[in-house]
Order: sequence, then structure tokens, then C-alpha cells
Amino acid sequence: MIELMKLPFKESALAPYVSEETVQFHYGKHHKAYVDKVNELISGTEFQDTPLEEIIERTFDKPEYQVLYNNAGQVFNHNVYWNSIGIGEKFDADMQERIAERFETRDALREKLADEAVKLFGSGWVWLAEGKGGKLDVLTTRNGDTPLVLGFKPILNLDVWEHAYYLDYQNRRKDYVEAFVKNLLKI
Ligand code: MN
Repeated sequence: MIELMKLPFKESALAPYVSEETVQFHYGKHHKAYVDKVNELISGTEFQDTPLEEIIERTFDKPEYQVLYNNAGQVFNHNVYWNSIGIGEKFDADMQERIAERFETRDALREKLADEAVKLFGSGWVWLAEGKGGKLDVLTTRNGDTPLVLGFKPILNLDVWEHAYYLDYQNRRKDYVEAFVKNLLKI
């Protein structure tokens, strides 16, 4: 069985950029629902004691496991999401240096992440991830897909499903994305 991760900050900690109410729904309802669904689906099956990342890898691109794959992916993606947020906390000097080498400035990376998030049609995720050979890249995935199955190691992400921002920003995705990237990410 898998567990709902503990939120690394108070539900009110992201205001005014993301409200306490949004975090309550996003973490306590949406994220929890994905965890509950995965546990319902793996209970009594070969996946019952399988780690989350392995469930994702083993169910990827298998139509008979599509519901499990989608929900497990969403659990993983939300785990990364909450850990992408730093309240007064940034990535360590080593990662900052790698970001500077690859994107020149933190602002340039923020701009690229925001740009991809605004352009993404429908629901999905924007990522900073490490590819083979350790190269950093910005990429997007749709719905519950995750860069794990594409051979990337996720570093941070940005949730651009409407449930991540609709209570606070309604249709103004760009405003959410800019506030999030500028004020909440650990970069
Ligand atoms: Mn979400």
C-alpha cells in the first residue's frame, strides 16, 4: 500500500499566491483521492507491496493497467509538486550552479517554465528534470504522465491542472503560473 505524503509546510503557507483553501482541496481531496484509488486498485494484487515508482514503470503503456498507471502517476507528480515548493528554502548551491550553467540565470529558467505552462493545452505538468548524462531540461507531460518513464529524473514540477489554481485564479492560468514560479519554487 502507498501513503499520502506529509505536506512539508502548513496549508496556509503558500498564501497569498496559493490560498489555504486551494491547498486543502488540492492536497486533502485531489492528491488524497489519487492515493486512495491506487490503494483500492492494488489491494490483493501483485502490486500490493510494490513501491510507487515501480508501479508506474510496470504499468506504463499497458492498456489493461491504464487506470492504475494514471492514478499512480498523479500520486508521484503531486509528491514532486509539494516538494518543489520552498518556503524560504531554495535548492542547494550545487543545483543552483547547474541551473546557472544550463539556463544562465534563474529568471531565464523561471520564464521558460512559465512559458511552457501557459502554452500547455489541457491538463498536465511542466518539469525541470535531469536527462541521461545529467543534463537539465524543461519538459511537459500530459494528464498523469511523468518523466520517469521517459528516462528523466524529476527535479521539480508545476501543476497546470485547473484544480491547482481555479479557486484562486479561475481562468487566469498565466497569473497562477507567474506567481508560483516567481514566489514558490525552490529556484
Ligand atoms: Mn494537482
